Amino acid sequence: MTDHYDVIVIGSGAGGGTLAHTLAPTGTRVLILERGGFLPREPENWDPTAVFVDGRYQSADTWYDANGQAIVPQVHYYVGGATKMYGAALYRLRPTDFGEVRHVDGVSPAWPISYDDLEPYYSRAEQLFQVHGRHGEDPTEGHWSAQYPWEPVSHEPRLAQIVEGLQAAGYHPFHAPCGIQLDEADPVRSLCIRCMWCDGYPCLVHAKSDAETLTIRPIMDLPNVDLLTDALVTRLETDASGRTVTSVVVQRGGVEERYSADIVVLSAGAANTAKILLASANEAHPAGLANGSDQVGRNYMFHNSRAVVAFSKEPNPTRYQKTLAINDFYGPTADYAFPMGNIQMVGKSLAPMYRGEKPLLTKFAPEWTLDEAASHIVDYWLTTEDLPLPENRVTLTGSGDIRLAYRMTNQPEADRLYHELRKILNHTGMPDHHVMEKNIYSSMDIPVAGVAHQSGTARFGHDPATSVLDVDCKAHELDNLYVVDTSFFPSIGAVNPALTAIANAIRVGEHLAARLS
Ligand SMILES: Cc1cc2nc3c(=O)[nH]c(=O)nc-3n(C[C@H](O)[C@H](O)[C@H](O)COP(=O)(O)OP(=O)(O)OC[C@H]3O[C@@H](n4cnc5c(N)ncnc54)[C@H](O)[C@@H]3O)c2cc1C
Repeated sequence: MTDHYDVIVIGSGAGGGTLAHTLAPTGTRVLILERGGFLPREPENWDPTAVFVDGRYQSADTWYDANGQAIVPQVHYYVGGATKMYGAALYRLRPTDFGEVRHVDGVSPAWPISYDDLEPYYSRAEQLFQVHGRHGEDPTEGHWSAQYPWEPVSHEPRLAQIVEGLQAAGYHPFHAPCGIQLDEADPVRSLCIRCMWCDGYPCLVHAKSDAETLTIRPIMDLPNVDLLTDALVTRLETDASGRTVTSVVVQRGGVEERYSADIVVLSAGAANTAKILLASANEAHPAGLANGSDQVGRNYMFHNSRAVVAFSKEPNPTRYQKTLAINDFYGPTADYAFPMGNIQMVGKSLAPMYRGEKPLLTKFAPEWTLDEAASHIVDYWLTTEDLPLPENRVTLTGSGDIRLAYRMTNQPEADRLYHELRKILNHTGMPDHHVMEKNIYSSMDIPVAGVAHQSGTARFGHDPATSVLDVDCKAHELDNLYVVDTSFFPSIGAVNPALTAIANAIRVGEHLAARLS
């Protein structure tokens, strides 16, 4: 192991893992620095009590809100990053998301690249993450250069019934794009039963398409790749001119270490990337690295999301519930002038989730009553775009921790989407539904998606006065610093963000390979 590399990648999640995976076959000497370790494979991976009540896989960290109140963010610092716990719903942004979009609370800004620019990389990302789906079903999607590599995961009977109801009522349901590695030849992965433990749980049989299994494990034993786990990057140092990152400062085992590379790629997740940049202030960059524009940490987005459970008389024995989505309200409609967003399914509710979610309310409820309730539930996830407000931002507290200020936008659109869902429920055999909001993943001080879909804190753009990164995701103010996590998003659209981070990391990885050669 050496101390100088061609490229250092900080963070091994969707962005960083994919970028390393893109560079590794070129022979580039890559060092991956990851603050976490490997998530253990153990029976508790699929134990809802361990995951949702005990928070077994939530990493210890404390952030602060705008009022200085401590919050416990739902973060997962592991090899693979947030993808170890994500739902692997791997959507492309819609072509309209790349232009300006007029919302009830303002305008969502245009991207400096178009859907067409990213399209080839979306196709490659779908291949790499083994996405199951069917292009051509959803009227809002853009063109595609390759069909999904795998047929969609089929709907289980209760979902098929809901699809029929939706189609009969004139809606356009489509097969949701799901990242699953269904490998019959692999003795462990072949055990994948498309279960209810895909969304919000780590996958015991490594059959969920995550960044650990698909990007890091395939390259980590190559001679040109080094992976350091439990390596917390605290700051970046530059030369006197401030144009070049000269060292990456790491805390590992209580010791401070330094590594250097021709190129440094930051991909620590939107909040931690902003933290590292701000903590790296020096004489040449007094407001934080790459922050002459004062944009680092600003424009934080996380989606205006709502999880809804619909109880019906009819049982719902579905195991893998994430097969269905609807984009009929993605843009404005004849009777509503603004976009509302996406409706999709989430992982099936199980009784212990309620105990984790509402400990007081459920304290005296016998287990069987919760089991009975859960067996009738159909779970929906509603996503509305939120706006990148400059005042929604990550700053640092006096002790260097993350302070997150956030004000939600586009609430009338989110409410309208919820109203549309209630109409849908009447069309899908659930006239006697009862609707309740829930935070599916765990109990939180801020809404779950506040951390899950974090993005926007180092946006890319043409103008150095209003963006942190250029179109190649290189910091405008430095020659060898890139960012490829979801920080680069100028807007977030209303679909899940991971596939866009993956596609962009392939794009930037190819740019770096060309630059290095
Ligand atoms: C419960 C849950 C469900 C989700 N479901 C979906 C879904 O279905 N579909 C979807 O598209 N998205 C989903 N997401 C969001 C998705 O996981 C993220 O958008 C995606 O992982 C972001 O990629 P990233 O590279 O920006 O960050 P991450 O994947 O989080 O990677 C960041 C990495 O950096 C490491 N790191 C952080 N700080 C440091 C440091 N100082 N030094 C070294 N390493 C550091 C972290 O440990 C982590 O490995 C979900 C997220 C969660 C939490």
